[in-house]
Amino acid sequence: MPDAVRAPIPMLDLASEVDDLWSELEPAVERVLRSGQFIGGVEVETFEDEVAQLLGVRHAVGLNSGTDALVIALEALGVGPGDEVITTPFSFFATAEAAMRLGATPRFGDIDPLTLNLDPATISPLMNERTKAVLPVHLFGLPADMARIVEIGRSAGVPVVEDAAQAFGAVYSGACAGCSGGRDGACDDAVRSELAGRKVGALGTAAAFSFYPTKTLGAYGDAGMLTTDDDELAAQARRLRNHGSRPEDKYVHDMLGHNSRLDAVQAAVLRIKLRRLPEATAARRRVAGWYRDALRDVPGVVLPPDHPDHVFHQFTVQVPAERLEAVRRALGDAGVAHQRFYPLALSAQPVMGQVETPPVVAEMCGRVLSLPIHPGLRPDDVDRVAAAVRSVR
Ligand SMILES: *Cc1c(COP(=O)(O)O)cnc(C)c1O
Repeated sequence: MPDAVRAPIPMLDLASEVDDLWSELEPAVERVLRSGQFIGGVEVETFEDEVAQLLGVRHAVGLNSGTDALVIALEALGVGPGDEVITTPFSFFATAEAAMRLGATPRFGDIDPLTLNLDPATISPLMNERTKAVLPVHLFGLPADMARIVEIGRSAGVPVVEDAAQAFGAVYSGACAGCSGGRDGACDDAVRSELAGRKVGALGTAAAFSFYPTKTLGAYGDAGMLTTDDDELAAQARRLRNHGSRPEDKYVHDMLGHNSRLDAVQAAVLRIKLRRLPEATAARRRVAGWYRDALRDVPGVVLPPDHPDHVFHQFTVQVPAERLEAVRRALGDAGVAHQRFYPLALSAQPVMGQVETPPVVAEMCGRVLSLPIHPGLRPDDVDRVAAAVRSVR
């Protein structure tokens, strides 16, 4: 059958997921609606407890979005005007925007050309007395090199906040990213053994998760969460999410906050999807394996690291920059959706002013292409995507 008359392959297929889960979704949503408790309440608290338990953290604070989780984490740590936050410019805009919303300045490190995550070696040169946080991103579902980043943060006395928006469900094994899950001599350090086996979201001082519908754990609306082991930070986040009001005295405000409460319908949906997460992660990894086989020997195409911790929020390949538009056209002609995550570095955004873009980031913006990945993809879908990528030499 010619591709044009075959069904298109979307980046992800949430309508089929709703179909699959309907028998669980319907009673759960009905239960919440009939309870009359739509914001916060027992459904939200139960979801928070379940996440805290799963991740092995003391506190999980349900919020309105991943963006708010970033803002509130940094705000609760005291980040404000004049401060600096070291992060990666190869991420979604919210990563840098969160710091800027608080009046702070993002300082951009470079990334590793294989993992596409913040290169720890580029952090220390950016450190100074204004540095108030380091904000690595677990890009596309692959944990950043947290052992080295946490070590750098600790020795500078600067908290590390994980932007875990794309990596709910990932476990940090401590294996070197980029060395295919092996452990070489360089990986054998004390912080690495301390963090090994912990979940993403339990690796730094605090973490921000997004439950935007496309994420590995996605709600059916906006939702997010802050996780931390720090009791005071969690208490501050709970105040900030509710207009800075006192928990014991709701209509007394000692400070300004936000309206960033999590709603109960989303919490109910997320609780159902949380139970299915191991299955969904295994399915994503299976699809990634099919892609790997189908694209193994395409000259010039670089595949994402074959790393045991990767939960494949995205399956992002690199193609030679001069081939990128032709590959996109071939995918389009085959009815295959694709995205450029990310075509423009955060450092190069118009709102940023004159900021230099680190060299590896600049190069990757012209090379990356994210292919469809979700639990419902079948092997023949993957073959069709791969055929389109291969057709361009
Ligand atoms: C999605 C995302 C966010 C923002 O999450 P929202 O829930 O959409 O506000 C922040 N950082 C990264 C890396 C993301 O991918």
